[in-house]
Amino acid sequence: MKKTKILIVGAGINGLVAANYLQKSGADITLIDQSDKVGGACISEQARINGEDFHYALGASVLGLMQDFIYKETGLSSTLDTFVPSHPKLVHFPGEKHPAMIFRDASELDKELSEKWGETGDLRAFREDENKVIQYLQKGYKEAIPPNISSAKDILGNELTQLWITGTARDLLNHYLTSDKSKMYMAMTVSESGPVSLDEPYSAFTLPVMDSGSIFDGYYGFVKGGIWKLTEKLGEINCKLGVKIHTSSKLLEVDSEKNTVILDSPEGTTNLGYDVIIFATDPKTALNMMDSNKLSKMQTEKKYIGSSGKLNVVFKKPIQWRDATNLSDTDAAFRFLFSVNSIEKFEESTLSVLGQDKDYEPGYMQIYCEGGAMRIMNCNEPYDRIAVFMKNFSLNNKGEDLQSVKEDALKKLFQYIKNPEDCIWTRLLTPKDLQETFHFPGGNIDHTVLTGGQTFFDRNFSSDPENHFYRLLDNENAFICGAGTYPCGSIAGTPGYMCSQEVIKYINS
Ligand SMILES: Cc1cc2nc3c(=O)[nH]c(=O)nc-3n(C[C@H](O)[C@H](O)[C@H](O)COP(=O)(O)OP(=O)(O)OC[C@H]3O[C@@H](n4cnc5c(N)ncnc54)[C@H](O)[C@@H]3O)c2cc1C
Repeated sequence: MKKTKILIVGAGINGLVAANYLQKSGADITLIDQSDKVGGACISEQARINGEDFHYALGASVLGLMQDFIYKETGLSSTLDTFVPSHPKLVHFPGEKHPAMIFRDASELDKELSEKWGETGDLRAFREDENKVIQYLQKGYKEAIPPNISSAKDILGNELTQLWITGTARDLLNHYLTSDKSKMYMAMTVSESGPVSLDEPYSAFTLPVMDSGSIFDGYYGFVKGGIWKLTEKLGEINCKLGVKIHTSSKLLEVDSEKNTVILDSPEGTTNLGYDVIIFATDPKTALNMMDSNKLSKMQTEKKYIGSSGKLNVVFKKPIQWRDATNLSDTDAAFRFLFSVNSIEKFEESTLSVLGQDKDYEPGYMQIYCEGGAMRIMNCNEPYDRIAVFMKNFSLNNKGEDLQSVKEDALKKLFQYIKNPEDCIWTRLLTPKDLQETFHFPGGNIDHTVLTGGQTFFDRNFSSDPENHFYRLLDNENAFICGAGTYPCGSIAGTPGYMCSQEVIKYINS
């Protein structure tokens, strides 16, 4: 029997995962990307430091939202080494001498947050209820069935569905917690990719989604050599399986009647036929290609804006943290530095960049100690490196034009470091840089904002989501599985996997 010819556009994590499953299902896969390498936003870049080339993570840095079964079934688990710090996360608020330690052990955490932040709420109930929601989501991931309100109510009941899915993050946090600091710590994920208010319907849902990875039981960790090894390896695995990968090949046009595309590739302008086309790109690219005559309503109604920046920092000697403990993995602990002390200020800073006049408003910094983790994994690098994920930027400027913002951020960071004089290289990327570098429409790391109307069951681009969730508009043989589809972005590949299962059903129907 003739094999189904599938063209996948976009070789980021989702295109790579979809290609892996579909090639193994017996289809004939061609995977193209306009970039000169695979990986999408999970790639490294070289910096020239003291005459040497040094690799750092340009986009993503840490791994955690991937499903364990995807990690194993794709073949990644047998080619990569990973490390998850067991060290408590360290959370610093302005004016506090000592950080709060986020212990894994529930009684230790209760005691710590009660002493440091005056928390008197029910953290255990928070985690227990969140776990129920996560189990429900994970079952849906594995079975490739997107969740909906009626199944959520059947399994979780009305109260949990309202609190954790359809409700606001503010109501969710107020239900379980009493201190502003605990609430801010938990609320970080709500605004992680874009300026989402804690009062938005469905903003509660971002919390369980961002904790729903199973590769490290909901925790985040590091890949030996750097997270870009994951997409590099998946590219190699796919090649061995027979996937035809063409980099430097940009999709220019789709003729959805004739099932052909025009590509700009190293061989010049080429034509290619397909039986099925899958967009593992951002949604704007996909909608423009398939709906170029009438600008789709879906495209104009969606919110795309992102507000996250990334500051890469390189040190010539290992960073000496002032908050270091005597635990062996203290150099690799996740660190969080808040610039605001109340939930109202947190909300204000998140939303401030929606106006025209603000370039940056300090909210929080998440510090990923990649160099420290590499040393623990015996991966010898000439320098130490950290990635600082920063909030809140507008879409106005590139990082190179925000020198004073970068200097202020470094000043804040250096308060926690004993050897700032060893810092030898830095680079700030803003949403505007992410838009240009990774083609994220509004610079959003999830391709579109995770907000009501475009999260949970609404995170799709199908005209018939009940029956064909990953379908693109009303095209029978066109699908979409980039970060803008359910559940969300991240180095997870869950949309790519779920979409591949729907495509397999379509081929066999
Ligand atoms: C700075 C930054 C930090 C991040 N940190 C983390 C982190 O630590 N952990 C985490 O899990 N996630 C992180 N993320 C988010 C994560 O990287 C993304 O959500 C994820 O990589 C998206 O994967 P994707 O496959 O959906 O899309 P992408 O990676 O965006 O891939 C889409 C691909 O489509 C290609 N493409 C687009 N148009 C065309 C065309 N016309 N023709 C051919 N190819 C085309 C693009 O070149 C691209 O390679 C971060 C992102 C950024 C930018």
